[in-house]
Amino acid sequence: MILVLSKGIAPHDREMIHIYLQDRGFTIREQQLGNEAIIGAIGKGVVDLRELGLLPGVERVAATSKPYELVSRETHTEDTIVTVGPVKIGGSRISVIAGPCAVESKAQIMETAARVRESGAVMLRGGAYKPRTSPYAFQGLGMKGLEYMKAAGEAYGMPIVTEVVSPELAVQMKDLTDMFQIGARNMQNFELLKRVGSIGKPVLLKRGPSATIEEWLLSAEYLLASGTQDVVLCERGIRTFETYTRNTLDISAIPVVKSLSHLPVIVDPSHAVGIRAKVSPVALAAIAAGADGLTVEVHPHPDEALSDGPQSLYPEQFERLLRDIEALAPVVGKELLRTPRPGSSYAAPGKPAAPSQPLAGVFQVAFSGESGAYAEQALIRAFGEECPRVSVSSFRAVFDAVLDGSAGAGVVPVENSLTGSIHENYDLFLRYPDIGIVGELKLRIVHCLIAEEGTTLESIRIIRSHPQGFAQCRDFLNHYPQWQFETYTNTASAVASIVREKAVPGALARVAAIAGEAAAKEFGLKVLKSGIETNPLNYTRFVIISRSIGDMVPVPSSLGSDKPNKASLVFSVPDKPGSLFACLHILSEKGINLSKLESRPIQGQPWRYLFYVDVSIPDTEGGFEAAIAALKTKTEDFRFLGSYRASL
Ligand code: PEP
Ligand code: MN
Repeated sequence: MILVLSKGIAPHDREMIHIYLQDRGFTIREQQLGNEAIIGAIGKGVVDLRELGLLPGVERVAATSKPYELVSRETHTEDTIVTVGPVKIGGSRISVIAGPCAVESKAQIMETAARVRESGAVMLRGGAYKPRTSPYAFQGLGMKGLEYMKAAGEAYGMPIVTEVVSPELAVQMKDLTDMFQIGARNMQNFELLKRVGSIGKPVLLKRGPSATIEEWLLSAEYLLASGTQDVVLCERGIRTFETYTRNTLDISAIPVVKSLSHLPVIVDPSHAVGIRAKVSPVALAAIAAGADGLTVEVHPHPDEALSDGPQSLYPEQFERLLRDIEALAPVVGKELLRTPRPGSSYAAPGKPAAPSQPLAGVFQVAFSGESGAYAEQALIRAFGEECPRVSVSSFRAVFDAVLDGSAGAGVVPVENSLTGSIHENYDLFLRYPDIGIVGELKLRIVHCLIAEEGTTLESIRIIRSHPQGFAQCRDFLNHYPQWQFETYTNTASAVASIVREKAVPGALARVAAIAGEAAAKEFGLKVLKSGIETNPLNYTRFVIISRSIGDMVPVPSSLGSDKPNKASLVFSVPDKPGSLFACLHILSEKGINLSKLESRPIQGQPWRYLFYVDVSIPDTEGGFEAAIAALKTKTEDFRFLGSYRASL
């Protein structure tokens, strides 16, 4: 049973409610959920819910239909985001944990950490205490192993997660590990759950091989009830009659648990299938089913592994898996989280990389539009839900906010896969020579037809959106020639306009907007139809902009990750035969791939053009810098807009 307390409840009333429930045999736990104070009361006590609702200070009472309360979505509708050091698990990101089954030596864990970090893992796993089926199998290096792992985590900037097998060890291990893992065999070791929960550190709770979803959630309830706030659930396969694979991955558990609970759910494909060649396909299926991340066994030399070698991926296989996940993520509306490299900065070729400037005040990011706009979704994907954001009313205002320092970075769309470039933003780069590109991100755009409850396709007369929204839904809109179009500066403000007109009686059933589901949610309107874009392969490429210091663009630490592999340039060429060819020839000679070439008219110079060019940065030392130097000799105006990590 859940009680929501009134805002500003008097301490005396709060105490009376506690006494009332305890007297009737309930165990209670009070917690703050968002801006509401909530009491979860567990027990077989009998109370009259109406009487309870009348107690001073009780806002409302909900008898939950589930045996668990704290883990239930009924008590906490928003997704919980678990924080482990700099890593976040849950929400719109996919977080991948990787490492060997067991820590075998310092060299082995160091090498694994380097390899998995390079490929994009954000946390390191590894067992120091191994619960093995056979007493003769390798049992782990114990505390020594944990020390090696902590050193590897620190060396490569990754928090660590390791299994704890007894309440006594939990206390010994607590200062060495960033997250505890409760293994499948211990899921119902309640004394262990209580002790680990009381330490308050994040916990990865594996599902028992024969546990039902309800039993699993009740074990998570133990952890939350004992004091930890941060629990990640991990599906790792259950025991069925099938013997081909080590266990049977219960894929359906992912959407089921995500609807029952607010906790993040990740998947362990390694223990689920137990066969190396089957790990990656199953891992991709888990991501497609909505998992918030994975924990994967990777070993630098799996054939020599002391435990679970046959299911451990080679580092190359892991790298490939992460690239595939990166490509799949936008389809499920998520982004693969990569390890930030704090304070990294990308210098234009030829310029020394100066240390990045600390940004004044709170770091916040600007986007154009109302809450729920696609640009806000892109921002959240890049910087996380908790990043402070400023909404402004135009793309130009995003550039202004970044320039005057009121925002440390901005997010603007530059290109859509169905309708092409968003020229306004390309042109703004020329007006703001001190602003450059520090990152990019592709967002899958699923448009919805959004209106007030009671509106039908037949009652609509007016349709509102950004011109891009109309353009991307052309085929759908062609079925409704009677609809009148009204243009808004962004899709979310089209949705907001409907809500703001609520006061006009009778007008609402005539109006609908085209925007994303997040905008419908933000403004409490109904999605009449989802997926109305002409082609489901509809992506918008956003760039993250920041202020240059000379030729140097500081990269916010939340964004900077691996070495940049893409750059954007703008240049004009002399008005004579072969001048563009000469530039392209330089790129071709240096093995630099051209991913985009677009011309834009130069304002005030009719029939003269600037070329916007996106290129790959090859791995080879110095080749890129030499190509840029050569390009400068063949071009007239030349601007280096930035180098960054390409989004797949
Ligand atoms: C492990 O992750 O190392 C492990 C032993 O997994 P499980 O508890 O799921 O068998
Ligand atoms: Mn293992």
